[in-house]
Amino acid sequence: MKRLVDKLWDEHRLTPDEYRALLIMRDAQDIDYLMDQARTVSQLHFGRGIYLRGLIELSNVCRNDCLYCGIRRSNCHVERYTLSHDQVLACCEQGYKIGFRTFVLQGGEWGEERSRWIADLIGDIKKGWPDCAVTLSLGEHPRETYALWRDAGADRYLLRHETHHPRLYSLLHPQGMSLAQRLQCLDWLKELGFQVGTGIMVGAPFQTLGSIIEDIEYLVDFQPQMIGLGPFIPHHDTPFRRFPAGSVEMTAKLYAILRLAMPKTLIPSTTAMATLAPDGRCRGILAGANVVMPNLSPTDTRKQYSLYDNKAALGAESAQGVKILADELAAIGYHIDWSRGDSPQ
Ligand code: SAM
Repeated sequence: MKRLVDKLWDEHRLTPDEYRALLIMRDAQDIDYLMDQARTVSQLHFGRGIYLRGLIELSNVCRNDCLYCGIRRSNCHVERYTLSHDQVLACCEQGYKIGFRTFVLQGGEWGEERSRWIADLIGDIKKGWPDCAVTLSLGEHPRETYALWRDAGADRYLLRHETHHPRLYSLLHPQGMSLAQRLQCLDWLKELGFQVGTGIMVGAPFQTLGSIIEDIEYLVDFQPQMIGLGPFIPHHDTPFRRFPAGSVEMTAKLYAILRLAMPKTLIPSTTAMATLAPDGRCRGILAGANVVMPNLSPTDTRKQYSLYDNKAALGAESAQGVKILADELAAIGYHIDWSRGDSPQ
């Protein structure tokens, strides 16, 4: 196994069978070796600093009906909200004072009639805090909409491909959504000069080791600047309510494999990791992740942005809890890096 980890370090790519061997390995010493090497690579490029992104959950209104997601259109138990322009700017102001230099606007997918509103919001954030990066995570849109947002000043875009297997994609999404369209969106975003993030839910229903290997190969070919990867967690009001959650162990393994494959990629240790295990966030960092995205949304809307059950939004997961986060990081030998944290690629 060590030979495979060393090969991944040297060549940044393995064969499908070699990825499979790493994904199924169980020996504790082998796993420790994988994690140690991933951590070393991360520290070579980023030191022991962890970048922060302030997550602003813009709206839980969504036109899509993804079968895994708690804010899917047909979940009639969700109390829908959309933050106002001023509420978003107030989140940025508060975040800037705390020290954040990246704001991530994430939300359900809207129709194009609201695109201009988003562009104006991006413009005002860039005007108010010109030294900050704006990341968007607002789903699939036509190329012109992405261009409008890029021209307004948005720097980065997160759009998980969710799976690179067309059949699995269609089992996770409603009719009308297609893997081809999602991949097209990712290509457009890259062409338009966004720093692009993509990724998957680990342990999603019907996912197989084979499909995860296809995801790794797609990520290595696409070379995103950021990788968004977290365990699937069921939501009680979705068709996937009875499926088990993904595992922290497998997600950490994937962080480590992807860190070795793409040494300079930004990899957040995601909220879903922190939701599944009290030490999940730190385990992600010890597997080579180097970003954390604390929640900067107004406290009264956080529980309405419920993508999955028991989603962590307090303590070290909240922007107001950065002291707790700093202490957690210090306990494992890391610290907060307050810079903008652009991709070095
Ligand atoms: N609408 C945008 C989009 O589709 O990219 C951004 C919001 S969407 C809710 C953000 C991400 O949440 C998705 O890409 C998905 O991977 C993740 N997510 C949704 N439901 C989840 C669940 N039940 N467990 C874990 N992650 C989930």
